[in-house]
Amino acid sequence: MNYKSLKDFCIDNGVELVAVSKTRSNDEILEIYNQGQRVFGENRVQEWLEKKDQLPNDIEWHIIGHLQTNKVKFIIPGVTLIHSIDSVKLLNKVNQVSKEANQITKVLLQYKVAQEVTKFGIDPDNDLGIIEACRELTNVEVCGLMAMGTFTNDKNINKREFEKLVSIFNRLKETEFKNSDLFKIKSMGMSGDYDLAIEHGSNMVRVGSLLFN
Ligand SMILES: *Cc1c(COP(=O)(O)O)cnc(C)c1O
Repeated sequence: MNYKSLKDFCIDNGVELVAVSKTRSNDEILEIYNQGQRVFGENRVQEWLEKKDQLPNDIEWHIIGHLQTNKVKFIIPGVTLIHSIDSVKLLNKVNQVSKEANQITKVLLQYKVAQEVTKFGIDPDNDLGIIEACRELTNVEVCGLMAMGTFTNDKNINKREFEKLVSIFNRLKETEFKNSDLFKIKSMGMSGDYDLAIEHGSNMVRVGSLLFN
């Protein structure tokens, strides 16, 4: 799919497009950048650090993949949004490093809504610990939630997963985050299911292969 039609589809639906540029060369990234894209997502810290200094500095970088605590110090400052907060330990680390850097870092909480056992994320039935930890943050702004759907052709499975994330989002928006204007992002949908995700409440999609191939 070409960049412009995907971008237009996202704009028409009020959805933010994150162009997932992991494994892509700087030339490939610039090709999309030159068509107007400014928000890019990477999932490996080392790879991102090697690329970003050679790319325009008005790019907003999102970290979308599993993040190890010991890598946090390398991404702050420089990162615009971390999608993959999945533990109290990681959340507190981002807060601590952000405090030392004297900045506020925006994050999403990654929930596990898919059945696959290997997927990272917070257990929706056991999230009290991390929600309580959110109350103590001084240098992190929680801006919403992220989830990955099961890799399947069965649209009903993905539909249920997206609906599940939306219901968790609504519950938190009505309670814990009711006074936060920034808590509004639902990051869900990738190349294979971005349209389904948008249909079911996503307002931020992370699209890689569809854009770059
Ligand atoms: C790679 C990746 C994507 C994009 O996947 P595509 O299928 O290439 O669109 C989205 N989200 C995360 C967390 C990823 O690691």
